[in-house]
Amino acid sequence: MAQLSDDCFAFGGPMMSVDEAVAIITSRVTAVGEIETVPLNAADGRVLARDVAAPLPLPPFTNSAVDGYAVRAGDLPRETEQAFPLAGRVQAGVSAGAAKPGHAVRIFTGAPMPEGTDTVFMQEDVTVDEAGRVVLPPGLKAGANVRPAGEDIPLGHLALKRGQRLWPQHVAMAAAFGLSELDVTRRIRVAVFSTGDEIASPGTARGTPQLYDSNRFMLMAMLRRLGAEVSDLGIIRDEREPLASALKHAAAQHDLILTSGGVSTGEEDHVKAGVEAVGSLVLWRMAIKPGRPVAMGIIGGTPFIGLPGNPVASFVTFVHVVRPAVLALSGALPEQPIPIPVRAAFTYKKKAGRREYVRVSLRRAQDGTLEALKFPREGAGLLSSLVDTDGLVELGEDLTAVKPGQSVGYLGYASLI
Ligand code: AMP
Ligand code: MG
Repeated sequence: MAQLSDDCFAFGGPMMSVDEAVAIITSRVTAVGEIETVPLNAADGRVLARDVAAPLPLPPFTNSAVDGYAVRAGDLPRETEQAFPLAGRVQAGVSAGAAKPGHAVRIFTGAPMPEGTDTVFMQEDVTVDEAGRVVLPPGLKAGANVRPAGEDIPLGHLALKRGQRLWPQHVAMAAAFGLSELDVTRRIRVAVFSTGDEIASPGTARGTPQLYDSNRFMLMAMLRRLGAEVSDLGIIRDEREPLASALKHAAAQHDLILTSGGVSTGEEDHVKAGVEAVGSLVLWRMAIKPGRPVAMGIIGGTPFIGLPGNPVASFVTFVHVVRPAVLALSGALPEQPIPIPVRAAFTYKKKAGRREYVRVSLRRAQDGTLEALKFPREGAGLLSSLVDTDGLVELGEDLTAVKPGQSVGYLGYASLI
């Protein structure tokens, strides 16, 4: 488990920007060191633990990119078309011999280039005369329609970097190298629980003044998408003792503890006291909306993050604070989703010095540009505002207003989770 000192997240300032918060978290947590070897089939979503240098070039041999006729560049017709007698035929998966000068070789996509040839005419561009010779037009460049060995990846090239989160295309490249397994970092183990006397577990009876726990399932789903192994620790009452003991037990067995709710400074917000009983805690007033305070702490050397209870605040702080922490703990390279410029179809006023995220749907305007429509209501408790929108518009600290038509940065949910 990661071992961090108690004052690791201490911060003196009154308000912390999102960038400062992420920089502190990612520089303080230590990536898991354990490495596992997994079959290629199980590598999707894992974090690569070692660099992969190309053990063979891609493609491994020079081959034809099309179905057609291979010739020597020296024989290429220059001014007028020219008839070539055929000598040989080579299909994919078959070794090719040497080509005769002045002849064309029938060749198919993926077949190795016969020795001496370096240019292929597409079959659509040629005719065959009565004598069975292939008539090749002038003007084709030497080397056309050929894929040289190593044109994609040269031998020894650093093809996959340590810390890369493996997506299907990375798995494909490892397979193209003939690798059947990859070394990845161990999945990080994250303990998740919700807090609050008003929260009931789905599938259990709900008291009249209670609501069902949505945060825990959202957070666990987001963690799993990041490759974490999740322990579902349920709901903890708003009381110091049960909180403290749940946290202490979780700390011994996990790389990160994540909770939602109870981190405001109200009388019934007991996370602070619970964490302080078994570790140390700082409340970060982060300059992010929706968000409010995010709690950071250390319990027995294990990092703790307490998110606000309102589902939208929980979601937004997860993607901007927890996600970078999970990536860092997993040994993954940092990822900074890039906002895509779209046109605002709304008016908005905000305070300077705070980053705000507006829930929006995208639509295509008459002139073809993408427009962002703001969800009509603002509450941080409205789950419909996440379900019925496509992503978040990010309004930077310096901005104080948005006018219709203004270009704003859009982050689709798919890029955030
Ligand atoms: P808190 O941060 O504990 O003050 O909670 C803020 C709001 O979020 C309250 O209205 C809570 O009822 C709500 N809330 C807290 N935890 C959850 C949860 N796990 N699922 C859904 N709503 C929650
Ligand atoms: Mg609460």
